[in-house]
Amino acid sequence: MNLHETAPRLLRLFIAGFALVLVQVGYWTLYRGAEMANHQRNPRYWTRVRSVERGRILDSHGQTLAESVLDTEPAKKADDDLPSALRRHLFRRRYPQGDLLSHVVGYSDWRQGQSGVESALSSYLTPPQALAMPRSFWELLSPPPRRGDDVVLTLDASLQKTAALALGNRAGAVVAVDVQTGAVLCMADYPRFDPSSVSDGKAWAKLIGNKEDYPLLPRAYAGLYPPGSTFKVLTAAAALQAGTATPQSTYQCDGTDKLGHSTVKCDKRSGHGQITLERGIAQSCNIALARVALDLGASAWEQTVLATGITQRPALFRPGTGTALVPPGKVPTGAALDGPQLAACGYGQGALAVTPLYLAGMGQMLGNGGLRHEPYLVDRITGSDGSVLYKGAPDAGNLVVSASAARATLAMMAKVFESGGTAAGLSRGMDLAGKTGSAQNPHGQAHSWFLAVGPARNPRVAVAVVVENAGWGRVAAGPVAVQVMRAALGR
Ligand SMILES: [Zn+2]
Repeated sequence: MNLHETAPRLLRLFIAGFALVLVQVGYWTLYRGAEMANHQRNPRYWTRVRSVERGRILDSHGQTLAESVLDTEPAKKADDDLPSALRRHLFRRRYPQGDLLSHVVGYSDWRQGQSGVESALSSYLTPPQALAMPRSFWELLSPPPRRGDDVVLTLDASLQKTAALALGNRAGAVVAVDVQTGAVLCMADYPRFDPSSVSDGKAWAKLIGNKEDYPLLPRAYAGLYPPGSTFKVLTAAAALQAGTATPQSTYQCDGTDKLGHSTVKCDKRSGHGQITLERGIAQSCNIALARVALDLGASAWEQTVLATGITQRPALFRPGTGTALVPPGKVPTGAALDGPQLAACGYGQGALAVTPLYLAGMGQMLGNGGLRHEPYLVDRITGSDGSVLYKGAPDAGNLVVSASAARATLAMMAKVFESGGTAAGLSRGMDLAGKTGSAQNPHGQAHSWFLAVGPARNPRVAVAVVVENAGWGRVAAGPVAVQVMRAALGR
């Protein structure tokens, strides 16, 4: 082998290698360039985000929940490679409500990323056009003033505060929705965190490392719990709708009964004796509601339950993205309802799991004559010039049960607060419909649930409350729901 032979071969190899590099560079700059520039792992992306005055997040009364302020102490070490003129124009997020709305508003931090409204509505709060690459060196040194759009929520911060105080430092959640529209009025939960603390590395490590309380879990809309006896009202409404039961239909409860393929136990061990469906709801009889479900049949029960949207991810943050943040519930369907599941699900102890948001939505549907609206959180988005860019509104709705079935179910739920009911004396003079629940779970004491709709005869608000491992619905969740209802109806 001599030079004469190898030189052309080397040249060809060199040209091929060079072409390969060209293709690579072209691919990453021309084809994937925009994606790379806006990738959340790209520090320059975050520099651009921080140089834009992000829009505010406001409650329904105009209270500021999140705003951008000039960062007077940029993390110097991490920003060392930035020109000093740019460093003076960096913003940081301020959350004046502290931890009160941490799971709704979320956080936006260049180190830890984003969550909640900050994540789902990020393309409005910091519009992509405001993030355009600087067109000249001078623009890089003195960026033009840019401001994002404001996001106004349907949520009422003062009602949120009432809910948070009523829940106290017990793990759980409180959700209130407008019965006529599905607009979310409050969505409080505990444990929470202060979104301002997210930027502190040590505080952040502590938050994500807490595997006991999960303070980053938005329990109100992402916590899945067995619904317990609160689900009885849906079984009752489905049976009334199908005509397989009336409020006066009677059932025999001896405390324990062999139903279908399993043994159903009532919380009242001695049994309720002869009991109507109406008393079965008021006194939360498992055996009566298991029978109601069996009489109704699996396919009719399934059809009504699926119509409530239980298996769908709610588009809570619409028009934003982020439905991935809101999980669907769980319900056995088809063949899985054969055997003992139908009877167990009928009274809320089958293989069911729902979020507090879902349960509040069930109250909304019953209070709104059976017409379900998807819950929503964004009331409007306004541009920096004050123009309305988006207006939130209830969806067309989905009729789950007839108006008469919904009305009759609410009338039975009103008996829950009357003498002999599981929440007797709890309504404090208000005209309410409700249902207690205590959901057995393998991780300790039962979860305490309460669903309230009020006023019972002219419903405006639905409230769902869960208090983890707190036992009977009447004891823990009930008083919280009534307190929040009183504040919500008095608004
Ligand atoms: Zn019973």
